[in-house]
Amino acid sequence: MDLCNLSVIRSLMADAGISFRKEYGQNFLTNRIIPEDIADNCTDERDSLIIEIGPGIGCLTAELASRYKRVVAIEIDRGLIPILDKTLAEFDNVTVINADVMKTDLNAIIQEYGDGMPVSVCANLPYYITTPILMYLLESGIKFSSITVMVQNEVASRLVAPPGSSDYGAITAVIGYYGEVRKLFRVSAGSFVPMPKVDSAVVRIDLYREPRYIPKSERLFKNTIKAAFEMRRKTLLNALSAKLGYPKELISEAIAATGHHENIRGERLSTADFVRLSDYLYDNSK
Ligand code: SAM
Repeated sequence: MDLCNLSVIRSLMADAGISFRKEYGQNFLTNRIIPEDIADNCTDERDSLIIEIGPGIGCLTAELASRYKRVVAIEIDRGLIPILDKTLAEFDNVTVINADVMKTDLNAIIQEYGDGMPVSVCANLPYYITTPILMYLLESGIKFSSITVMVQNEVASRLVAPPGSSDYGAITAVIGYYGEVRKLFRVSAGSFVPMPKVDSAVVRIDLYREPRYIPKSERLFKNTIKAAFEMRRKTLLNALSAKLGYPKELISEAIAATGHHENIRGERLSTADFVRLSDYLYDNSK
């Protein structure tokens, strides 16, 4: 069964008595090369447990199941579960869980299905909740080998933007704390049904096995980034003074400690700069 074929998708959904649910960000892939490419490139470890978020009718799930040792797919839409039972029936290494990923205990899933294997995440993410899901995965503390996700192309550009570029933002600096991000390829809007308004892209985050940065206070590090980008048009000095509640002189010294001028804007600072800056504030604010 070609799960990317439009008539197959429509007839599976008609038989199950369901239609596309916009509120769940349902745009299903209709170009079979894409799930193959994503599955081929989402991790280098074939012996992995892959956690998939939002399997839809299972087109990517099937490609993952034929390449990797185990797949657990988490789907929020109960109406899709009978379809997945059918489309994935030939695979004995797939488990589908009907749940909201944001309310799912991923550690428990890994405990149950991981059996000591490397764990990666692979997903064509629902666009309405891309950043919260990414942050949920990264902040879970789970040592994923990689997280490979399809997101809107403009989000992908933000995730891989170098410091100083207009796309660089809080999410870029935070993700740089957890791992290395690459854009794998762009996917045209015409590769989905219903067709979204914009193109997508697949990005892969390879998480650092050992932390590359160890801020003295992770909370202060993240708050500093947040403050720097909340008031983008202000200088870093003014943005941090307004939001962090430290004396301006101290913030000025902290910026100088990163080797930058105080009139700089937040988007010029790398992840390492934000670690240095927040460490200075941490050490000198007592
Ligand atoms: N993987 C399929 C594909 O590539 O054709 C479907 C991708 S579609 C963009 C996103 C999928 O995520 C939908 O099946 C949707 O129901 C599901 N979804 C949306 N929000 C979710 C959530 N919070 N937890 C789990 N699944 C979710």
